[in-house]
Parts: sequence; structure tokens; C-alpha cells
Amino acid sequence: MTSNVPVLIAGAGPSGLTLAVELARRGVACRVVDKAPRLFPGSRGKGLQPRTLEVFEDLGVLDAVLAGGAPFPPFRLYSGQEVVWERRLEEMLGTEFPSGSDVPYPRPWLIPQWRTDEILRDRLTELGGRVEFGTELTGFTQDAEGVVATLSREGRTERVRAEYLVGTDGGRSFVRKQLGVGFAGETYETERTLIGDVRAEGLEGVRCHMFTRGGDITDRFSLWNLPGSEHYQFVAAVAEGEEPELSLATVRKLLEERSGRDDIRLSGLNWISLYRINVRMAERFRIGRVFLAGDAAHVHSSASGQGLNTSIQDAYNLGWKLAAVLGGAPDAVLDTYSDERIPVAAEVLDVSTLMHRRNFRATTAPPGSAPAIHQLDITYRDGPLAVDDRAPGGRIRAGDRAPDAPVRTRAGKPVRLFEVLRGPQWTLLACGADPGVDFGPEVAVHTVAEHGDLVDAEGALRRAYEVADGDLVLIRPDGYLGLVTDRAARVTEYLNRLTARR
Ligand SMILES: Cc1cc2nc3c(=O)[nH]c(=O)nc-3n(C[C@H](O)[C@H](O)[C@H](O)COP(=O)(O)OP(=O)(O)OC[C@H]3O[C@@H](n4cnc5c(N)ncnc54)[C@H](O)[C@@H]3O)c2cc1C
Repeated sequence: MTSNVPVLIAGAGPSGLTLAVELARRGVACRVVDKAPRLFPGSRGKGLQPRTLEVFEDLGVLDAVLAGGAPFPPFRLYSGQEVVWERRLEEMLGTEFPSGSDVPYPRPWLIPQWRTDEILRDRLTELGGRVEFGTELTGFTQDAEGVVATLSREGRTERVRAEYLVGTDGGRSFVRKQLGVGFAGETYETERTLIGDVRAEGLEGVRCHMFTRGGDITDRFSLWNLPGSEHYQFVAAVAEGEEPELSLATVRKLLEERSGRDDIRLSGLNWISLYRINVRMAERFRIGRVFLAGDAAHVHSSASGQGLNTSIQDAYNLGWKLAAVLGGAPDAVLDTYSDERIPVAAEVLDVSTLMHRRNFRATTAPPGSAPAIHQLDITYRDGPLAVDDRAPGGRIRAGDRAPDAPVRTRAGKPVRLFEVLRGPQWTLLACGADPGVDFGPEVAVHTVAEHGDLVDAEGALRRAYEVADGDLVLIRPDGYLGLVTDRAARVTEYLNRLTARR
């Protein structure tokens, strides 16, 4: 029997779950299948970047994420029992985090990935969706109208006809392989990391504890507190040629060897993996009616914590576009997913490789000497959706992330612009006066003026957006500037390209 669904999502990691939440809140039905019996239990990607926190605010999961995590802790280097130094993340990496009213969450947030996954799964359930665990995508074909997929569950197979299939099935992606899409890049055969979650006694404080025998940071054994859990994430590079047994005994031995200490007691290993670093990217992210997102589309070193975050941003970029096209927008909107995300993935591969090579050795590097990792500076300026009618130059252009700003309602109540932007709609900020045009149901129009529905009393919005009276700023559903213009007809023209017009 064949069942029908608009979108089939293969893989319930962070990218598949984010996409499912994004579609569900737009009322787009989808099926999410995962071959595993449950969510992945390991802490893996444990650092959420500032931009991801903004996305999570929009998706309605930020409160749970803040409740389930903690600010990113300092790093402490030990030489045997002695504390050599303690440093903040930005000192470790030589990177900087922004501040100001346009950035509500300026710093990374520590939360185990299993908790992030649970929160996204719970949000999906709240929105009426669910994950079908123990259900593997084992084959698919596509034609001009859709995709026919085969799902296997407990020895039974089912055929599903979907308008679109999204492969969020991780680095070894079945979908990518089935499509024959190249995954160009390299595998660092000799560089492997033992990583996992373990209980630890004998440690004080919330930090990343880096143990060494003689202070050599490159020969460390790290233990990270995991908020909301008795477990710590351990990370240790494994020497070339060694094939460690994946057991608690191995982890204990490594800690003792690296630290020269026997006062830290490890127990309760509940996840362990020997992680080989791959730096690879899919050659295409869209093949007809099939898309790749998250690790299925790009993998890289975990140095600088970009993997999970980039996966979530992929899904956030794709979600509104899929919903738009399913609602009648031109198919070309979906091409912009690859146009926008491939350059971002390429950049992330470069940044994470650079940070991997530095391996915390550049701890004396001055702030700002390393690339930013917060992902707030990701821009689609050069992409097909960025239209800026202002004179060239300026700090902020169409394609950039829409900044936050403190404003007031007409009644004088203070609100953040991000509260206004929250939701699946496009937002038009009309500075100075209401343009008096009906742009359709997908667009929420706000007049930013002394007697408008938004009052920019402190001028923060005008400064953040570099706009003046008469300017119109069209903000995309995923919080990027689509169009900046001073002509209402340009807004209509722009939206005609991207939304279903009546
Ligand atoms: C050992 C390890 C350590 C990591 N450490 C970090 C870190 O410190 N920082 C960081 O930022 N990132 C880290 N990452 C990367 C981060 O975990 C990933 O970037 C993130 O999980 C990607 O999310 P995803 O949803 O794309 O894929 P995944 O989380 O891999 O999810 C893919 C899902 O697809 C399912 N699946 C696979 N094939 C099929 C199929 N045929 N049918 C149905 N379902 C299928 C799998 O069961 C899985 O649940 C680490 C990854 C690993 C493996």
C-alpha cells in the first residue's frame, strides 16, 4: 500500500527535528522516520551558538534550552594536580563575541545534544507531529511529481509517496549515497578522538577540565560538565596506530596516563565513540525533489562547535521555502536553499579546520585574531534573495541577519523586535509611515513611527538597520533581510517571486 505525505524526512537528529518543527508550525504535514529505536543518547554537539539560540527563540524552544543548559564554562588546564591556568572560551580561541542591544544572546550555551534533541522532539509532539523510530528509509525513486520511498520497519515494508524527501540522515547519509552525490573532501585517517559520556567524581566546579601530566595542552584528557546530568563528556585524542577498546577501562586508563592522577573516579559510561575527522561537503544539496541537510550535506571537525549549529541553520533555511512552494510559490524558491547554504557550509569547513589545526595552541592569540564562531555574521548577501536598493556600502545589507532592537508598542510597552518577528510570517518594517498597500496574508506590516504600532524611541532600530523615514525593510521568515527599498512596488514585485500570489 502507498501512503501520501507532502514531506518525508529521513533522520531525527537536530536537522530533521528542526525541519519537522518548522514545517509543523506552518501546518505542513510531514513524516519523520529514524532507523534508530530512540533519539541518540550521546552528548555530541554540546555548544549552541548565539545564532542558534535566536532560531530556537523563534521556534518556541528557547526557554527549555535555557532551563536545560548553562553558560559556556571556562577552561582549566591542569599539570598533574596543579592548576596551570583558567581561561574563557574567547581567550582559548582568540575569537570574539558581540555585545549590544541587537544581540540578545551573545554567548554560546552548553547543553548536551541529547537534551537539545529531546526538546525539539517534545516541541514537535506539542505541534501534533511525531518521530517514527525503528523505521528505515531503504530506497527511493523520484519523478517530476514526487518521490516514492520505501520504509522498512520490523521486517515489513511500506511505500510512501511524498512531494519532497529530505535526507537529514547524518554523515553516512543513505540518501546522499543513493543519489550518487559526491562528498568531496578528506578524512584525517591518523587523527581520531575518543569521545563519550561518563560519570566522574573528584572534580570541582563547572568547567572544561583539561588534564595533562606536564602542561602540554596537545596531550590532554578533557572532561566537560554536562548541565542537567551527572555525566561529563570526555574527549581525548588517540595516538596514531592505536585501536582502543571502547570500554570504561580504556577511558580510565587514558585519564590516568594523560593526567598522572588516580583521584578522579570514572563510572557509568553511557556512550563512547571513536570519532574520525572527516572534512567533506556534498557537491549538491538539491537533486530534483530530494534535499540534503545537516551532516548529510557537510561534515567537519567539531573544533569551534559548528556542526550541530550549521545543521539546524540548514533546516531553518529550507523549512520556510518548502512550506512556501507546497503552498503555491514558484519552485525556484527551493533552488535558493543550495545557493545560500553551500557557501555557508564551505566557510564552516574552513573555520572548523583552522580551529582544529590550532588545537588550542594559539591561546595567546589576541581577541579577534580568529574567525567568529557565533554564526551571527552568516550572510546571504551574495545570494539570489538579497535585494538592497540603497546606495552601496553601509554596515548592514540585504542578506544579513535581521538584528534585534528594543522598541515600544503604541501603548508604550517595551518589546524586543525579535518578539515581533517571532512566527512563520514575513515582516515588513515601514519606517516613518504606513505604505498603505496590502502585501498579502504572509506579510505582517509594522509601522515604525512616533504614532506607529512600533515606536523606536531610542533610535536603536534605525541604528541597527541603518534606515531612515521612508525606508521599507522586508524581513524573511528565517530572520534575514530580504529587501531594503523605499518603494512599495518593489516589495510587491519581490514577494511575487517568492510567495503564492492571489
Ligand atoms: C562522535 C561525535 C562527536 C561530535 N561532537 C561534536 C561537537 O563536539 N560539537 C559539534 O558541534 N558537533 C559535534 N558532532 C557533530 C554533531 O553531532 C552533528 O553535526 C549533528 O548531530 C548533525 O545532526 P544531523 O541531524 O544532521 O545528523 P545526526 O544527528 O547524525 O542524525 C541523523 C539521524 O539519521 C538517522 N538515519 C540514518 N540513516 C537513516 C535511514 N536510512 N533511515 C532513517 N533514519 C536514518 C540516524 O539514526 C540518526 O538519528 C559530533 C558528532 C559525532 C558523531
